[in-house]
Amino acid sequence: MIRIRNYIGGALHEARGGGTIPVHDPSRGVVFAEAPDSDEFDVDQAVTAADDAEAAWLALGREGRAKAISRLADLIERDLDIFAHAESRDNGKPLSLARDTEIPRAIANLRFFASASIHFASESHDMDGAAVNYTERGPIGTVGCISPWNLPLYLFTWKIAPALAAGNCVVAKPSEVTPLTAHLLAELCIEAGFPPGALNIVHGLGPKVGAAITAHPGIKAISFTGGTRTGAEIARVAAPMFKKLSLELGGKNPVLVFDDCDFDEMLDTTVRSSFRNQGQICLCGSRILIQSTIYERFRDAFVERTRNLIIGDPIAERTDLGAVVSEAHLEKVLEHIRAAEEEGGRILCGGHRVRLEGEFAGGWYMAPTVIEGLGPACRTNQEEIFGPVVTLQPFTDEAEALALANDSPYGLAGVVWTRDVKRAHRAARALRTGIVWVNCWMMRDLRTPFGGMKQSGVGREGRLETLRFFTEPKNICIKL
Ligand code: NDP
Repeated sequence: MIRIRNYIGGALHEARGGGTIPVHDPSRGVVFAEAPDSDEFDVDQAVTAADDAEAAWLALGREGRAKAISRLADLIERDLDIFAHAESRDNGKPLSLARDTEIPRAIANLRFFASASIHFASESHDMDGAAVNYTERGPIGTVGCISPWNLPLYLFTWKIAPALAAGNCVVAKPSEVTPLTAHLLAELCIEAGFPPGALNIVHGLGPKVGAAITAHPGIKAISFTGGTRTGAEIARVAAPMFKKLSLELGGKNPVLVFDDCDFDEMLDTTVRSSFRNQGQICLCGSRILIQSTIYERFRDAFVERTRNLIIGDPIAERTDLGAVVSEAHLEKVLEHIRAAEEEGGRILCGGHRVRLEGEFAGGWYMAPTVIEGLGPACRTNQEEIFGPVVTLQPFTDEAEALALANDSPYGLAGVVWTRDVKRAHRAARALRTGIVWVNCWMMRDLRTPFGGMKQSGVGREGRLETLRFFTEPKNICIKL
């Protein structure tokens, strides 16, 4: 049994209350680790450690902080295999996805923001020689970072790296469902001699630890990625305290397939954008809108490709889909499918739990599911499912495609497949989403603004956006 502990003030600690939370291996449905069941006392201790560390962390200067953060990246790279196995075991995702994409991206996040903070500059405004204004961008103080279970280390580092690089000290909470790689990172912090207290990691339940971080008066800003309902609760508590908030929330992303697209490339990518990480990526396309001229061709080819996806042991190289993250989440996704059937949806493939044999018999596997026959207003096309489930809807022309795409409370990402460059630009402009991919999906340049419109969030992340979020601008005006 792996014992995960809090990382506070540079050392590992049990929760004050001594309680623990079981951590499951979704591929087998068994407990393999326990994490501290922390509470507001542990959070308070972490905030004190962060406040105490501030002077030493700032004294390192940009270069010193960048070096310390980059050292963590080097150590994760050294242990890439260990991290990838841990992520796969904790989350149920295919090892290949963790090893080839997610852990390398966590390393890239640390290096990117270490470097970006060195190149970060602020503005100066000359008043025709009468005065000059310059903007000082200093750290905020102690900040909170709360991340979800779907891309555990990838999203954890996407938050802590810029927060630290900008000179803040951090109290971070990974999801209680997938705490392992954050714990491994804490062990590397100790090995690297990372300045004690600059980064603190408190494990535990969202409504206890996450809520305590949100409510703590010593936490000046919160960067949160997770569900829209949780984001709303954080905003409700934090807003009257005037905390800075960055909220990256849920999605219900449309994929627009026009009949002039490169069909084969579109099909390959759309299978990935639907079911990668068992559909548990906020950027997965979940509403596929297809021009009626190619609807049947698309549907038949897509269903065939989906039926051929291999569900199984996440460690096996040929596995396409591993396990869903938890039994509760599997139940939630299956409940959405029952609702889709009640609404009149036709399940073209999947729609059920998959029982594997042997050591994986207790695992939480689910068949990738394709549903047709539902209109835009139904629950299935309005609510985020966050599993291996997509719906198909036909459209006749561009106007109808865009109307269907924008008929959603969410606005995170959209994908457009067409060879018509004018239409691509028109559609990209018209989509009410923070990100639009044309003829591709999940191509990410870390310098670009990342985030959603409507109920998908408030604020943007990315090079300038995140560094600006994690600093406090001050205008200084000097009369000449
Ligand atoms: P949750 O909102 O349930 O949890 C996210 C984090 O918040 C977890 O660490 C959770 O802790 C914590 N939390 C839960 N309740 C509270 C609370 N009251 N106060 C403070 N923190 C709390 O989301 P999931 O983990 O289920 O993640 C899936 C969601 O994340 C999906 O909606 C998905 O779309 C979204 N997401 C958005 C992304 C984006 O960039 N826009 C990227 C990735 C995911 P614990 O898990 O321990 O309960």
